[in-house]
Amino acid sequence: MEIKRGTPVFPGVTIGPALVLDTEGYRIPQRFIASEQVEAEVERFRQGQAAAVLEAEDNRRTVSDKLGGQYGAIFTFHVLFLQDPTLQQEIISAIREHGWAAEYAVSRVMRGHAKDFERVAQGPFASRAADLFDLEKAMLRNLLGHRREQLQHLNVPVVVLAHDLTPSETAALDPAMVHAFATEAGGRTSHTAIMAGALEIPAVVGLGKFLTDVSGGDLVIVDGNRGLVILDPDDETRASYEVARKSFHKFESGLTQLRELPAQTRDGVRIALLGNIEFPHEADHCLERGADGVGLYRTEFLYLGLQSDPTEAEHLDAYLRVIRALGPQRPVVIRTLDLGADKFATPSEPANHERNPFLGLRSVRLCLKNLPLFKTQMRAILRASAAGDVRIMFPMVSTLAELRECKRILAEVKRDLDAEGVPFNRQLPIGTMIEVPSAAIMASQLAREVDFFSIGTNDLVQYTLAADRTNEHVASLYNPADPAVLQLIRMVVAAAEQQGITVNVCGEMSGEPMYTLLLLGMGLRQLSVTPHNIPEIKKLIRSVSVEEAEAVTDEALRLETGRDITNFLREQTRRILPEVVG
Ligand code: PEP
Ligand code: MG
Repeated sequence: MEIKRGTPVFPGVTIGPALVLDTEGYRIPQRFIASEQVEAEVERFRQGQAAAVLEAEDNRRTVSDKLGGQYGAIFTFHVLFLQDPTLQQEIISAIREHGWAAEYAVSRVMRGHAKDFERVAQGPFASRAADLFDLEKAMLRNLLGHRREQLQHLNVPVVVLAHDLTPSETAALDPAMVHAFATEAGGRTSHTAIMAGALEIPAVVGLGKFLTDVSGGDLVIVDGNRGLVILDPDDETRASYEVARKSFHKFESGLTQLRELPAQTRDGVRIALLGNIEFPHEADHCLERGADGVGLYRTEFLYLGLQSDPTEAEHLDAYLRVIRALGPQRPVVIRTLDLGADKFATPSEPANHERNPFLGLRSVRLCLKNLPLFKTQMRAILRASAAGDVRIMFPMVSTLAELRECKRILAEVKRDLDAEGVPFNRQLPIGTMIEVPSAAIMASQLAREVDFFSIGTNDLVQYTLAADRTNEHVASLYNPADPAVLQLIRMVVAAAEQQGITVNVCGEMSGEPMYTLLLLGMGLRQLSVTPHNIPEIKKLIRSVSVEEAEAVTDEALRLETGRDITNFLREQTRRILPEVVG
């Protein structure tokens, strides 16, 4: 049994067989063959191995011709290893003795050797492990050929283990078959992690290198509550997790009673608890959890699976589905496209491989350079505003001029719609996200231009601390409770209060119970969270008074480091509602 520690991104526990996607996306399932097929399988392996040898020889020749014999010699090791009779015998025995399919036998045996090489931390053999993984891939390529199985066509439930998943790959996972996922890469607020929230399956990211320790079909536990992945659990661990899984389920079911109750503190202060969504069907997730509305509709997910930019009708159709589901009483904040960086490229503006995509042509910057794209979406949002309580919000605003430019274009679109006689809400509320430090610093000026603010802590934290939100290696720096981030949040809240506009927090921070007291104590009266987290946050809100939250906040703000603040907040939350803290 091995325990790997990462970052939890969606709660719950799943115990199931692994489906391993290595960096090339190969699936290596544990598959058995009938005893009468064993010799045919051995023959299949021999053919795959022979083809891999030919490939390696070919590489040796090409590289020797191009770069010289000493470089080509690198592949001599590949050829020798692939032809090694002991290795061949080991794989053939695995097929004959265990009845394993050739791919699985290759993967199991070669990964075993690779790990042996890795254990020799120093010396000439250490780097050979990488060669062995390459050779394993070469053999699998030849064995699997076109039979490579697709994630979309699973017929048994699995736990997906991968180096990384792009947001579109994650979105394509079928929650009926993929019961959890865990990745080596990624951070708490990467968009892959956010997608786990939309799928509502337990997930852990940022585990570091572990895929070499696991084969397809191995039993694994994904503990999305504590951020653990347990490979090959022993019976005792498995039994205790079965108990944990049931009690977590019970805890979650208990929360459903809160659905109809208001998010109101013990001293009667009403908090608007809204949902963050990516897809129209998540409007139902919001309603099921008793959300007061949608505080953040991330519209870039409209791009999933499209070969061209969405049309005005496609935008409108998605918005209307959400608005109709929520009814006239609940607001829906539609955020204009936040494309770029780790989100999708647009078909009309494919990713241009910027050196610093998070600091590049992302989000509203990209929209301002592509007015047809921007105006198409604005038209759809305005048209949708005739059907319900719609609000428009601009992401990644970093200067006052940028915000004014967005508003100017919106006014132009309104004039066009007027001229066409198309109805829309003339008082459509306009908001801006505050997720760049410059916007937080300029909050007083920005507040005069808009009807509401929404603090995007996912980006605000990364830009304030210069710590990439998707990079597990800087996860310890990426702390929403860092005093620098908290100072900026306080400035934004103060500016909003002074100008009399509302202020929301829609970054992942607002869905983590550990920060609820702090946010209430800093004056926030609106939180927008992943729908799944609504009941938990509501329960916490209903368990404290504002006075109590303010006292906790005062003390937290006196501490000097993010780590101390985090520990303090965790303890305070545990004191009030132990079951919501890890
Ligand atoms: C944020 O940055 O906090 C936010 C809500 O936006 P996104 O996560 O979509 O970048
Ligand atoms: Mg953001």
